[in-house]
Amino acid sequence: MLGWLRSRAQRAPQAIDAGLWKRATSSWLFMRGLEASEVESLRALCERFLASKHFSGTHDLEISDAMQVEIAAQACILVLELGESWYEGWSEIIVYPSQFAPQREVEDDAGVVHVTHDPMAGEAWLGGPVILSYEDVAMTGDEALRVAGYNVVIHEFAHKLDMRNGDPNGFPPLHKAMAPSEWKRAFSEAYKDFVSRVEAAEALPEARMQRAFDALPMDPYAAESAGEFFAVASEAFFETPELLAPAYPAVYGQLRLFYRQDPLARLPRAGPENTI
Ligand SMILES: [Zn+2]
Repeated sequence: MLGWLRSRAQRAPQAIDAGLWKRATSSWLFMRGLEASEVESLRALCERFLASKHFSGTHDLEISDAMQVEIAAQACILVLELGESWYEGWSEIIVYPSQFAPQREVEDDAGVVHVTHDPMAGEAWLGGPVILSYEDVAMTGDEALRVAGYNVVIHEFAHKLDMRNGDPNGFPPLHKAMAPSEWKRAFSEAYKDFVSRVEAAEALPEARMQRAFDALPMDPYAAESAGEFFAVASEAFFETPELLAPAYPAVYGQLRLFYRQDPLARLPRAGPENTI
């Protein structure tokens, strides 16, 4: 049991039971083709992550040990080669049973303030918690329900990495060996292209629109902003690299340098039954 996980203070990492680990991680697409040593590193990282984060459920949601390990594994795949220090400075993970609709005041272009209640699958706060809908987390792990490339945990934790240097804008702190100009060029060109593809799809008659959306290499939500493009591209990088890399090779290349991982190169090791 991992009951100690519910205590708020920083604790010594405790081993995750082998059976629990297998049950909680075997269905995720990003596990495809990981070497045994990488899986062990991920598990150790999750143990340290779980010792430093505090989970709470809303609406009487009981956060089981399996749920914590599922969320930890998805959060930690992003920092497998970066280390848990990228998630320092905050500790709360709040889990709703399903999508939540916080009341927000939004100012439109004309300066008029509107109150919105848009349903959300997840949210990451600058210096604050990550908030997740467990229904969406579970959907990603369910082969029958999942939408290829959709992963709310990877999405919100990519925002957290982006927030290491302020508001999420699609420009996380890059490693010394990386060229910011190349990152900027790769992402701005791909973003412009993706927005035009989404707009072209939206202009189609309804019967053809869905097919055009389905043909996109990632979730159309990426067209919202440069910050969302980075978070959605990170989902695709880990979940469906076979779709992202051919569509936007320069973005894939920059993400490979940033995450220091190459999920596309792992796929042949995963076997044909594991490709999407
Ligand atoms: Zn987002």
